[in-house]
Amino acid sequence: MTGHFIPDSLPTQLQHYIDGAWVDSAGGERFNVLDPVSNSNYATAAAGQKADIDRAVEAATRAFREGPWPEMKARERARVLNRIADAVEGREDRLAELETFDTGLPITQARGQARRAAENFRFFADLVVAQFDDAMKVPGAQINYVNRKPVGVAGLITPWNTPFMLESWKLAPALAAGCTVVLKPAEFTPLSASLWAGIFEEAGLPRGVFNLVNGLGEEAGDALVKHPGVPLISFTGETTTGQTIFANAAPNLKGLSMELGGKSPCVVFADADLDAAVDSALFGVFSLNGERCTAGSRILVERSIYGEFCEKFAARARNIVVGDPHDPRTEVGALVHPEHYAKVMKYVAIGKSEGRLLAGGGRPAGLETGNYVSPTVFADVRPNARIFQEEIFGPVVAITPFADDAGALALANGVKYGLAAYVWTNDLTRAHTFAQGLEAGMVWLNSHNVRDLRTPFGGVKASGLGHEGGFRSLDFYTEQQAVHITLGHVDTPKFGAAK
Ligand code: NAD
Repeated sequence: MTGHFIPDSLPTQLQHYIDGAWVDSAGGERFNVLDPVSNSNYATAAAGQKADIDRAVEAATRAFREGPWPEMKARERARVLNRIADAVEGREDRLAELETFDTGLPITQARGQARRAAENFRFFADLVVAQFDDAMKVPGAQINYVNRKPVGVAGLITPWNTPFMLESWKLAPALAAGCTVVLKPAEFTPLSASLWAGIFEEAGLPRGVFNLVNGLGEEAGDALVKHPGVPLISFTGETTTGQTIFANAAPNLKGLSMELGGKSPCVVFADADLDAAVDSALFGVFSLNGERCTAGSRILVERSIYGEFCEKFAARARNIVVGDPHDPRTEVGALVHPEHYAKVMKYVAIGKSEGRLLAGGGRPAGLETGNYVSPTVFADVRPNARIFQEEIFGPVVAITPFADDAGALALANGVKYGLAAYVWTNDLTRAHTFAQGLEAGMVWLNSHNVRDLRTPFGGVKASGLGHEGGFRSLDFYTEQQAVHITLGHVDTPKFGAAK
């Protein structure tokens, strides 16, 4: 690889940010951070341990109990959130360049992440101002109302795919609700999270409201999940990690929001606009390097158009530009880390015995180093195949034919996951009927993944627990206390009054 782009002023010693100050781990522990193009250690990051989580939770607790943040009027908090959005937008180029360098995401797609992150803050700023709660009257007897309160210190644990944007998806509603936070970003990609401190300082977020602890999941993440002073955990990551966190959160009965893995179907009926479906199916699985929880990684195609679809899809897949993530022409960059690269390559090898290889199948010619995988397409994949059932999280897709609606639905639902589903048909009745039967948290009809931030976001089955999005996110980060007021006389049974 020649001309490997290295951002200016690249930080090489990443630290925690606790109570408004950059600090190392109390015990001095560090871990190595690689970039996915050269796979060299460009930085080390402080590896948070229990003592560091304790320190961060202490600061967040103080900011919650004593600070102005939870008590501020919604409008005042919203002003800060809007300034955060401005500060994120002001760093769009820097953010995109750091994110691309650290994750291997193509630069054009990393730019979109910065804009989405800013939008998340604007959206929750609007929402918190517009929020109102119920008051209920029982004529002549009671008035009851909801007193909404931020829950306390929120633990936020995030993955390495689109790290900054996914951090914003938790930070924005948690802060809007009045919580204080401890963020534990993914260890593969800690670089962009280091921008948050400057953004929050610039926007005037009070000290101690935001705390960042870097580190490994089994150390820093684990300590955050088990900390008795953290009443809720919002987690995005693998299903197996979610299961571990679920168990570890049980002794303290924490509130949990879990966005987990997926193996989402893209179902193409013969009556669909075929070219639009091909465009969308390609984008759905190969954008963000295929490292996307909602990727349409199983394409189910009606038998009568199966041959034509496979041919068109594979021809386009073979033509996708794979290369240096910083090159604006690149459509698929480098996978995040050599460990993840090895996992994806293992599935590519498995796929060769489970399906008919139509495109890709390994490292692209001319890219001898770095975590590059050619967009890989397997056709005729049976539903019991591992590449049909298991989340690969890379640019690898399985295509399977179906005969009729019932067969398509059985295939679509025949995996343990249930995050997203995409359906292509021009038959209105079929589209809605089929959507009703899908075991998926989110369905797109004749579209790829275009989010409306007001809608529920989350999965069913092994893809998640709880839904965020819109007011649901604020519900997660707040308690709704019911206050009951008696009107007039209260009629109480008179215990102990018998003569
Ligand atoms: P991961 O589960 O390995 O790690 C996610 C985070 O959890 C990291 O910060 C990690 O350090 C931490 N962690 C790991 N073990 C922990 C433990 N025992 N206790 C506490 N924290 C722990 O996931 P990943 O590989 O970073 O991300 C990819 C996965 O995330 C994929 O499965 C993908 O589908 C999923 N994902 C889901 C969504 C969604 O919204 N449903 C969005 C993005 C990614």
